[in-house]
Amino acid sequence: MVMTFEEFEISNNLKKAVKEMGFEAPSPIQEKVIPELLKEQDVIGQAQTGTGKTAAFGIPLINGINSKQKHVQALVLTPTRELAIQVAGEFQKLSKFNKVQTLPVYGGQSIGHQIKTMKRGVQIVVGTPGRVLDHISRGTLQLDRISHLVLDEADEMLDMGFIEDIEKILKNANEDRQTMLFSATMPPAIRKLSNKYMRTPKQVTIDKGEVAAPSIEQVYYKVLEKNKLDSLCRIIDSETLDLGIIFCRTKKGVAELTEALQARGYMADGLHGDLTQSQRDVVMKKFRKSTVEFLVATDVAARGIDVQNVTHVVNYDIPQDPESYVHRIGRTGRAGREGIAITLVTPREMKHLRSIEREIKNPIQSKSVPSIEEVVEKQQETWKHQVVQLIEDHESDDSLYGNITADLLSDYSADKVVTALMKLAFYSHSDEKVETAGYDFGETGAQQGMTRFFINVGRNVDMTPKKLVEDVAKLVGIDAGRIGKIDIFENFTFMEVPEESAPFVYEGLKYARVGGAKINLEPAKPRPKRK
Ligand code: ADP
Ligand code: MG
Repeated sequence: MVMTFEEFEISNNLKKAVKEMGFEAPSPIQEKVIPELLKEQDVIGQAQTGTGKTAAFGIPLINGINSKQKHVQALVLTPTRELAIQVAGEFQKLSKFNKVQTLPVYGGQSIGHQIKTMKRGVQIVVGTPGRVLDHISRGTLQLDRISHLVLDEADEMLDMGFIEDIEKILKNANEDRQTMLFSATMPPAIRKLSNKYMRTPKQVTIDKGEVAAPSIEQVYYKVLEKNKLDSLCRIIDSETLDLGIIFCRTKKGVAELTEALQARGYMADGLHGDLTQSQRDVVMKKFRKSTVEFLVATDVAARGIDVQNVTHVVNYDIPQDPESYVHRIGRTGRAGREGIAITLVTPREMKHLRSIEREIKNPIQSKSVPSIEEVVEKQQETWKHQVVQLIEDHESDDSLYGNITADLLSDYSADKVVTALMKLAFYSHSDEKVETAGYDFGETGAQQGMTRFFINVGRNVDMTPKKLVEDVAKLVGIDAGRIGKIDIFENFTFMEVPEESAPFVYEGLKYARVGGAKINLEPAKPRPKRK
């Protein structure tokens, strides 16, 4: 049984918005939490990051807002400004078809601007505890008429020392309200907070037990968001593949990727929840008969499909949780056949990959996206193999080509003829692929084959080479030994990394902390030449 958003008792406008966001089915936490919240029940939700907690509280919350009333009816507290902006953004998408106004408030943005917007009438405020308190003490935010209050990432807020602020806010809020608390973990202080301020909360936990990954080959490739498609093409071109299922997160993703693959000449078809049963049957039939090599699908669409000879499962978008990872990769390697599970990981998803590895208790091996040369070499091998096979099973229609073969061979050497045929076979292939260079960092003053970066922190944040190497190796998934020269100064640092990992390091460090500090990194300038 697959649950859909249609089954929730929420407004049609919300259903429409969810559909437009490309969500096909509720995630496990959404499936459990939304019905409880719709009953006005207080809820504690515990689930890993990336499991869709925002919409889990956002959907019932927005459903409960009276859009005709212009006062603040809901408050969402988040630990950071980034998260406040992100949650408010998701709320704005969810309320695309109803007139519910959401405003993010956080430190670092002019308070005057926030006050002005607030006066125009917002129903939902999403903010960091400090700035929210600020508004309360100025009298620009009243919580005496709110009906919903959310503590998002409660454990993070605890870690950041916001507990007192949160208590002050809770004491200021209307007692007759629904309180929701979301957290990845449940430390005692959070437990205490919930006992004090929530009314017989219902606890919902997405248990992460019983996730045992099947024993098939699992690898991940580090890719950059902007050339994910090219990377995918190279990867699948370099694999010996019969049938592959490629997973995307949303229906929209499925449609776009299917189209892009078809445009590049792959035999691909998409499967998603909007297809009628008969359209679905047509696609599945083609897939079973191997007239399409790739089935692009969402998790939901792929449920219940049973195809025996799937050689590859590709996670074009990383799965949301370990269960889904296990589910997806279980579609290959059935009935004793060998299968390969490939996951594409962007820099900001590395942490998520690590958490999947932890849950399935199985390290996933890292591989680099093959270069064009490797792909061509691989394709030539396949071609050679096919030629040899054709030669060896003597077909009776060989005589059809007798004349032209004799003609060509009488005028040219066998060498020349074969090379020309090869060119014919590969020309179209290698030419149509757009080569997108990832990044060009220019001359950075690094040793041969390396790229040197400038990092804007040094000893002032207690940076040590050991810390830096450990963090970077973990983040980028490379062997610590491959990181090159490191020079740490008082306020900055230089670090050399292998050229091929440089774009990944560059993008990855933008979303990470090194030794606990938020950092900025730039390609280094070449050292001035000594005279
Ligand atoms: P969490 O708060 O649990 O870390 P988020 O709410 O930030 O997770 O969701 C992670 C991502 O998953 C977001 O990009 C969100 O839009 C997407 N998402 C949430 N629910 C669904 C769903 N039911 N189907 C597809 N994508 C979803
Ligand atoms: Mg969240």
